[in-house]
Amino acid sequence: MSPFSCRSCGRQAILPVLSLGQLPLANRLLSEDDLMRPEPRYPLDVVMCTDCALVQITETVPPEILFRDYVYFSSYSTTMLDSSEALANRLVNERALDGHSLVIEIGSNDGYLLQFYQRHGVSVLGIDPALNVAEIARQERQIPTISEFFDQSLANRLATAGQRADVIHANNVLAHVSDLNGVVAGMRTLLADDGVAVVEVPYVRELVERAEFDTVYHEHLCYFSVLSLDYLFERHELTLQHVERIPIHGGSLRLFVGREGEPSDAVRDLVAAERSLGMQQHTFYAQLGERVAQVKHSVHRLLAELRADGRRIAAYGAAAKGATLLGYCGLGPTDIEFVVDLNPHKHGKFMPGAHVPIVAPEYLESAAPDYLLILAWNLSDEIVEQQAAFRARGGRFVVPVPYARIID
Ligand SMILES: [Zn+2]
Repeated sequence: MSPFSCRSCGRQAILPVLSLGQLPLANRLLSEDDLMRPEPRYPLDVVMCTDCALVQITETVPPEILFRDYVYFSSYSTTMLDSSEALANRLVNERALDGHSLVIEIGSNDGYLLQFYQRHGVSVLGIDPALNVAEIARQERQIPTISEFFDQSLANRLATAGQRADVIHANNVLAHVSDLNGVVAGMRTLLADDGVAVVEVPYVRELVERAEFDTVYHEHLCYFSVLSLDYLFERHELTLQHVERIPIHGGSLRLFVGREGEPSDAVRDLVAAERSLGMQQHTFYAQLGERVAQVKHSVHRLLAELRADGRRIAAYGAAAKGATLLGYCGLGPTDIEFVVDLNPHKHGKFMPGAHVPIVAPEYLESAAPDYLLILAWNLSDEIVEQQAAFRARGGRFVVPVPYARIID
């Protein structure tokens, strides 16, 4: 096997950070029949490039396997919908977008974000390879959507056809693409001269500082810092104009990137902060493995105590991070009776690896577990609020990360 090359700079100055073992694909929910079949598992090893500071996993599962039947529908999270609407309104105002403007979203999912631009009369174009969610965007929201993987050649075709974007959105896209350089080059091609690409990625600093190891799964290839992104954009003749830290997905960066312009004070400050933390060096990441092992111990200890008291435990949120958490902690149906999820497309299926059944929220009332382990802990405020009836009956919640604990 040839040595692993960095997904950004291509060099081979790679050092290990964290190994989660062999895990199944986190978004590949299982049917009852699947439970009888062997489940493919792939290594989940996190490494760091000491040349460009990019943290990444080594395994690349082919995107055709990963994304064709993506079951995640963005619109099922009200937190995400609210922040999407606020972002669209802000960009419409700040950049005076109107009927002559074009907004393109890479990874447009079911049209959860572009719908808010459309309400302002702005032209929109979605790009998403998942056939099922793209169909929903077209049918239910009338959002034109191209069902292809975004790359340089698609960008060239669109630009040649006169499609240049005033705003490009790429939410949680860069972390997921195997052709990282092709996607960034394509974004540059598609951007109007004074256009802006608004890029959101989970922030690797949160992963390390809060031991958010369950944000690691096979779909999620890269874990970015401002430093590593700055190197990446610069190589593609793009300028990182501005950056904000936002609470989505357990802590993310929102970056504003253009063909021209100067870095804002916020960019300079965050780059300086990362340098002073040592985020360009391996030592910053080297302790993560030990801390993640402690999270696992804390989960085992708390669940064992609750079971010893005769408590019944279920979980909430059949998201990818839940699959990583259950898989790495080695939890199954004897530990967790079932997982509740709002998304009807997931009901009747089973969590990958753990084989815990996924059920509708209504099931909570009849099953009446004592505790809910919140797997989608990034949405825990929303979940606790939604489950007022569960709480009123004396039900309580367990949050697993950065250490397992009971919350009220
Ligand atoms: Zn590199």
